[in-house]
Amino acid sequence: MKYYSTNHRSPETSLQEAVIRGLAPDKGLYMPLHINHLSTHFFRTIGNLSLQEVSFRVATAFFGEDVPPDILKEITYDTMNFDIPLVPVTDRIYALELFHGPTLAFKDVGARFMARLLGYFIRKEGKQQVNVLVATSGDTGSAVANGFLGVPGIHVYVLYPKGKVSDIQESQFTTLGQNITALEVDGTFDDCQRLVKSAFTDTQLNAHAFFTSANSINVARFLPQAFYYFWAYAQCRTLGIPAALHPVVCVPSGNFGNITAGLFGKFMGLPISHFIAANNRNDIFYQYLLTGVYTPRPSVATIANAMDVGNPSNFARVLDLYGGSHQSITRDISGATYTDDEIAVVMRKVWNEHHYLLDPHGACGFRALQESLGDNEFGIFLATAHPAKFKDTVERIISAPVEIPEKLQAFMKGTKQSVPMSKTFDDFKAYLLKHT
Ligand SMILES: *Cc1c(COP(=O)(O)O)cnc(C)c1O
Repeated sequence: MKYYSTNHRSPETSLQEAVIRGLAPDKGLYMPLHINHLSTHFFRTIGNLSLQEVSFRVATAFFGEDVPPDILKEITYDTMNFDIPLVPVTDRIYALELFHGPTLAFKDVGARFMARLLGYFIRKEGKQQVNVLVATSGDTGSAVANGFLGVPGIHVYVLYPKGKVSDIQESQFTTLGQNITALEVDGTFDDCQRLVKSAFTDTQLNAHAFFTSANSINVARFLPQAFYYFWAYAQCRTLGIPAALHPVVCVPSGNFGNITAGLFGKFMGLPISHFIAANNRNDIFYQYLLTGVYTPRPSVATIANAMDVGNPSNFARVLDLYGGSHQSITRDISGATYTDDEIAVVMRKVWNEHHYLLDPHGACGFRALQESLGDNEFGIFLATAHPAKFKDTVERIISAPVEIPEKLQAFMKGTKQSVPMSKTFDDFKAYLLKHT
């Protein structure tokens, strides 16, 4: 399969090149040239398949031309080794719980898959050592660090702003050791991002060693997120929901990678009636749906902070999928936007009435479904993170203690190891020249 850039100024390229590069040379996002349909037989029998097998069939539709089947199967089975249950919250609204992986957020799926596929391509190219640089404001760092932990040939440097991530988040990427190094930058998230970007364009550094990113725009992180939309559908079959009833799927969205993977699923034949993109106050996409005009603006801080994005990078992919047509986009996707107060109200209400604990991101998804489902419709929202990851906020809202799952506690028992780093590029560069 060839991959093209959404900016159409770079040549088409192989999967291998797209994964190793991340971003196209013309700064566009890579897209597969074709989207393969899955067979009617697959959809008829999907209820008999495991999560790993469903994922492997979808992975084959994406990557089957480029990765030998035994290797693709191993990568996919190894990535999808935790449960993703579809849980009823009300009689018509289901949560697809994506928070049972190592760092309790949906980013585990993409990060684990990308680590394994990149590892395979590196071995194939005979590269000795690849250095992954990632700037994080919290959740990305933990998913990437854990996804890449122990993958041979790859060293990960996580840059995070000192004192600006929660203790839980910090413990998830500073206690791992092995091939993961945490750099505690005396600055902001923007400083971290600037250091990483400067490293990618520094001639001396790039002559010295090989650097790449594990950014969510990478096709190997983004496309595997389609797996669990198919798995949600498989579970609808085993739960006995009539096949003629197609779900409305609601995705709490920030950079729009997750929902775009779901749109790919629909283009591959997955019966979804339509999508809702739920935003917090950073409602750039919602405004686009209303007006047809895309106007990025600086992000504002909310309690659903993983969705605080002012210029969603995957918007380019959504536009490209629909040939730039606002009319086609609004046929498949509607939107919603909520303030922190509205998010808190729904968390409290669902906890009191249904004894289901939403995290602030999933809460946007639940609320959008509740407000928009028609009489004969049913909906699935993506529960993108475990509520305990936002313990303080959630406890304040529901006025009750939130238990920390075993997996998170284990991180917090580990010893923090981090390298203090100033925010000047010269210091960062000197460090990389010495250690890579
Ligand atoms: C990253 C993240 C999102 C946003 O996902 P996008 O793919 O960027 O739209 C939503 N919820 C949580 C918990 C996240 O970590």
